[in-house]
Amino acid sequence: MRTRFYNARILTMKAAAPDVFQGEVYVENEKIIYVGDGKGVEMCRGHFDREIDCKGNLLMPGFKDAHTHSAMTMLRSNADDLPLSDWLNHQVFPYEAKLTPEDIYALSKLAVLEYLTSGITAAMEMYLTPETIAQAFSEMGMRLVEVGGVNNFSQSPELLEDWYQKLNGKDPLISMQLGFHAEYTCSEELIEKIADLAKKYQAPVYVHVAETADEVEGCKERYGMTPVAFLAKKGIFDYGGAGYHCVHTTPADWEIMKEKHIDVVTNPGSNTKLASGIAPLSDYLRMGIPVALGTDGPASNNALDMFREMFLATGLGKLRENNAAAVPFYEVLKMATVNGSHVMRLPDTDVLAPGKLADMIMIDLHQPNMQPLNNIAANVVYSGSKENVIMTMVAGRILYDRFDGRMNFHIGEDPEKIYADCNAIKTRIVGRS
Ligand SMILES: [Zn+2]
Repeated sequence: MRTRFYNARILTMKAAAPDVFQGEVYVENEKIIYVGDGKGVEMCRGHFDREIDCKGNLLMPGFKDAHTHSAMTMLRSNADDLPLSDWLNHQVFPYEAKLTPEDIYALSKLAVLEYLTSGITAAMEMYLTPETIAQAFSEMGMRLVEVGGVNNFSQSPELLEDWYQKLNGKDPLISMQLGFHAEYTCSEELIEKIADLAKKYQAPVYVHVAETADEVEGCKERYGMTPVAFLAKKGIFDYGGAGYHCVHTTPADWEIMKEKHIDVVTNPGSNTKLASGIAPLSDYLRMGIPVALGTDGPASNNALDMFREMFLATGLGKLRENNAAAVPFYEVLKMATVNGSHVMRLPDTDVLAPGKLADMIMIDLHQPNMQPLNNIAANVVYSGSKENVIMTMVAGRILYDRFDGRMNFHIGEDPEKIYADCNAIKTRIVGRS
């Protein structure tokens, strides 16, 4: 299958500064085979299965949602306006205990629909049953990086290792990384076992870190040090990895993060709604600590919308520093694309270039919020919206488009059936129809 995109504006995200040019992109099967001005490549003409006139719209790499809990779609708008600890202990854990693997399969599908409408082409997921989540993503053609969510109450290092072996290397859309929920939900012994797995597989580890001030204080009481320092001391990050949130970190933590290659996945929407705090993104950028962007789950955000995350990342970053120059838009665009690919260990999805995977989106510039075309990349971050996403392609397959103005999903299933399945699960477990 060969597809030609012509009459496009192209933002490859390869350059250090925004660089949009007019040209063409050719895709063969799951890969990009050409990005350029389209001149001097006439020999390719006539050999395409599909030719798409981009009408001057923007092609760019898809967004990478580097931290989410997809199946928490069940609890969207069911447990709002509560502090994190009340929310988790009284509204989340009791309902999650009733979920079956099949429920999680169906609820994950709802999230995938929303990712596609937001231009997200890969998600880094932490939830209860990795195998049924992988099935949902794979069937829909969506890219997934699973992360273990081991804690004192569910999953185990043994299960994590089993999944790590089973889910890697089989389906090109699916991979798995080591991980656990958080320091405050895991015993010291459990954390040591995860560190042993990191050593055994020389693999990075992913975990919620320093999300709230209470979490940091609790860790200091238990172990006499911050979560970053404690987990690093235990060897969790001997092969790198990332911390989800990293809101309440200290300058000493930043030194450890830099030395151990602990990347940050910031979740400004969730941190705002749960009043967890504002992550020190300016300090991470200044220190050269890579930052990626995630939505967190749809029960704590409640949207899976990378445009909202991008605006919050830059807006909150500026507010925190009282400086409008802090956390500039192109850094945020890198967080949402290139950095996400690298944090998720998906290096072939980072930029638009020959040989890279065709995980690509089209942004409609023929809408008032994207005009005039002063600075298209700045428009994407500051005035852009998921309404501007008119195509989401994963591994060379168009999974979602709005070429005719309507929402067209090409995922082998009617979205209305997915909505009905999810509402039936919600009614069974949470109540209220
Ligand atoms: Zn989370």
